[in-house]
Amino acid sequence: MMDSIQSAMRDFMNSEQFEERFAQAQTRIFNNERVKAFLSSHPELSEDVITQDVMKLYEYKKEWENCDQCPGLSQCPNLMQGYQPELYVERGRIYTRYNPCFLKVEDNEFKRRKHLIKSYYIPNEILNATFSDLHIDTEDEERSKIAQQALEFAHEALPGEDGSGLYIHGSFGVGKTFIAGAVANVLAERGVKTIMMYAPDFFREMKQAIAEGTVQEKLEEVQQAEVLIMDDIGAETMSGWIRDDVLGVILQQRMMEKLPTIYTSNFDYDELENHMAYSHKGGEERVKAQRIMERIRPFTSPLYLTGKNRRHN
Ligand code: ADP
Ligand code: MG
Repeated sequence: MMDSIQSAMRDFMNSEQFEERFAQAQTRIFNNERVKAFLSSHPELSEDVITQDVMKLYEYKKEWENCDQCPGLSQCPNLMQGYQPELYVERGRIYTRYNPCFLKVEDNEFKRRKHLIKSYYIPNEILNATFSDLHIDTEDEERSKIAQQALEFAHEALPGEDGSGLYIHGSFGVGKTFIAGAVANVLAERGVKTIMMYAPDFFREMKQAIAEGTVQEKLEEVQQAEVLIMDDIGAETMSGWIRDDVLGVILQQRMMEKLPTIYTSNFDYDELENHMAYSHKGGEERVKAQRIMERIRPFTSPLYLTGKNRRHN
């Protein structure tokens, strides 16, 4: 900041019509409404002090003029991007401090929230979903009831004390993942650490993790998430290992720690159980599938989402 004050001074000094330009600049400064307001709230400031600190008034005026023409946070031309100057008086001199503007405050909040949602293979569109977007379709009573229940969960979930979650099911493209994303954002507003994963890709990644020796750490992260969102469960190719040693282990731990899990699926409970009973090696493994379902069914409220396919492709 000193640099720019000095270079502004140099501009004045180098000018041949220094006196004249200085006088003009001063007039502009002292005619500025914001500067006038500041000075009139500090009648104790002597002319000497005002002259000595005139560059602070100049910066103050200039930066607020930048804000008047705000080009957006990323283009902010102020000395400190996203900050606005405030003048104050201490021991008879004028000083400047900087406060974040509302865009900067919003951006910080956005980043803080994003930090609370960790995602695996979830598109940005979903990570930015909000319930106010959902309200667009309140004309459909069934759908808005489902959205309402999901919103209630998001506001009331108590990880560690109550492990009950949601099982959002329905056909392709009706907005299950979208609702889950909106839940994740409300949870983040409450400071709840959430992991949202696209189940087929996550399970695929787990298979690769065997070779890298990172199965355990990946499992632990997902086991311990305050809220876990498993998007599109049932869309994966289920192997015995994934079912019993990945999914089963995750759900067992979450059940014991009373951590809620949200599922989205094209399958209802029975269809998911069937899907898990057939590992691709062939042969039916009913009992093992039932064991998984015992970790899902009693710990979720089923939300059946209807409506039209909203995908454009
Ligand atoms: P599903 O998970 O049920 O297959 P998605 O949640 O992926 O469906 O939704 C399909 C598409 O419709 C996505 O592009 C999503 O962003 C959009 N969408 C879903 N619900 C809404 C909504 N309430 N408002 C706006 N767009 C939505
Ligand atoms: Mg989906």
